[in-house]
Amino acid sequence: MGDSINCREAHARLHDYLKQELTPELAEEVRAHLEKCRPCFKEARFEQSFLVMLATTSRKTSCPGKLREKILTALRAEMERG
Ligand SMILES: [Zn+2]
Repeated sequence: MGDSINCREAHARLHDYLKQELTPELAEEVRAHLEKCRPCFKEARFEQSFLVMLATTSRKTSCPGKLREKILTALRAEMERG
């Protein structure tokens, strides 16, 4: 242990990490990277909000394509403020 993963590897695992589909070892590597790496941390937060919003709102709509776009726009605006 000890060798940390790089941004590319963290990125490749991000979706599975957020959906909690990684093994505990792999998830821990991603988590450790996110703690040290600001850009990846922001990206993870962004992806997480997106997944959550998509999951909650897609139940109420019949047009997922448009919804996806709307959520992304809202999230980007929020990220730029924060
Ligand atoms: Zn990184």
